Amino acid sequence: MGEQANHEKWEGEQAREGGRAGQPLLLGVIGDPIQHSKSPVMHTAALKACGLAGAYLPFHVKGNRLEEAIRGVRALGFRGINVTVPHKVEVMDYLDRIDEGARLIGAVNTIVNDDGVLTGYNTDGIGYIRSLKEEAAPELRGKRVLVLGSGGAARGIVYALLQEEPGLVTVANRTAVKAREMANEWAHLGRLNGCGMEELDEVLPEVDLIINTTSVGMHPHVGDCPLDSRQIPEEIVVSDLIYNPLKTELLQQAEVRGCTIHSGLGMFVYQGAYAFEHWTGRTAPVEAMRAAVLASMHQ
Ligand code: NAP
Repeated sequence: MGEQANHEKWEGEQAREGGRAGQPLLLGVIGDPIQHSKSPVMHTAALKACGLAGAYLPFHVKGNRLEEAIRGVRALGFRGINVTVPHKVEVMDYLDRIDEGARLIGAVNTIVNDDGVLTGYNTDGIGYIRSLKEEAAPELRGKRVLVLGSGGAARGIVYALLQEEPGLVTVANRTAVKAREMANEWAHLGRLNGCGMEELDEVLPEVDLIINTTSVGMHPHVGDCPLDSRQIPEEIVVSDLIYNPLKTELLQQAEVRGCTIHSGLGMFVYQGAYAFEHWTGRTAPVEAMRAAVLASMHQ
């Protein structure tokens, strides 16, 4: 991982012992709401699997306390935190440095504290791409990709996807102007088009991969599907960011069409894996993390 070298000092002197100078590694996640988050169970399993002393806790932080909470990260000597809805954009105002990718995406989900200097990263998009390549589509270069939706998650994914040099990325959104704006903003990063959902009939026959980044089909609306199943080309790859349910209506329909399917669980696990690697300099124990999330979903 690119950032690994930056953390050699941590790995050598501190992370091996737990946290700073033998203190436990303090980690957490802030959001509003936060009680549903699977990050604590996943990172607790990761610390355990690596034999690192520390804790990862959920913190319910309201918008009007966000700046204070970030000051608390410095004051209490947290090694890092994750940031989730609704703070991923505003939190950028309170950090010392923003990684280039996170700045372009416009959102931070991971903060690393290096001796009081807070750096913000976005691991959602690269986490998704790592999961997609490992689990469903090893080669993305030259592929024609349709991304449904252009919200916050789509920004991270499209940015990371464009680093893989796909042949063409088409972003289709219910509010077409948002998809077109994204395509204009990132025209310099690769071949990118924006359109409305009503234009999909022209796009779909040409695609190798469909990625659903909309919330359509998410629990409790598990019967909803962002596409008419007859529109799904046969034997392509279909991926859904949603992981509750693990197999959405879109993925069920795609499976019937002979497609390779890919769920959002991997994205969740790998965004966490990148964060863990930023904080510890260790290779994340991905299978232990995945198993912990799956076990907690079945409880
Ligand atoms: P967001 O910023 O609110 O964006 C939601 C997107 O869905 C927008 O493009 C919106 O279109 C579209 N949409 C919502 N309802 C729709 C409907 N009824 N018909 C058509 N389009 C609709 O949300 P987000 O943060 O990007 O999250 C999107 C999804 O990704 C959620 O299901 C979330 O759970 C999932 N996610 C998964 C992970 C993971 O780790 N697996 C991480 C992040 C997010 P408009 O612009 O027209 O409103």
